[in-house]
Amino acid sequence: MSRTASCSCGQLSITVEGDPLRVLVCHCFECQKQSGSVFAAWGYWSKTAVSSIKGNATLYRRGSDAGRTVDNYFCPVCGSSIYGDSEGAPDEMAIAVGNFADPSFSPPTFAVWGACRHPWVQWPDHLPEYRDQPDM
Ligand SMILES: [Zn+2]
Ligand SMILES: [Zn+2]
Repeated sequence: MSRTASCSCGQLSITVEGDPLRVLVCHCFECQKQSGSVFAAWGYWSKTAVSSIKGNATLYRRGSDAGRTVDNYFCPVCGSSIYGDSEGAPDEMAIAVGNFADPSFSPPTFAVWGACRHPWVQWPDHLPEYRDQPDM
């Protein structure tokens, strides 16, 4: 099965094949600022599962608490941040779940950076939450 995530204006999109390796929610302040929401939901695929990227993307590179770089690609027209990768997991592509606009998308199986979670955000009891970034 192929899935396509696209930006608000539609000029930038990424298509992946098969199911994500994992889906998580991240409460870190970087994700909060990047998304404008109080958490981000990310799906991860092997880069070999990416079948196409269409349109123009602008790269924003930042550091991480672990001292490595994280690359985020966003649409220079509408500003939607769709996908990215990191020095810590160079063979994987992270894609923002919201950009698939598909409510039937696989739910997250865990949450990270719970130390930054707004207390009114409550996940079901069965969803494990890490206070920071666990080793994958
Ligand atoms: Zn756009
Ligand atoms: Zn984050």
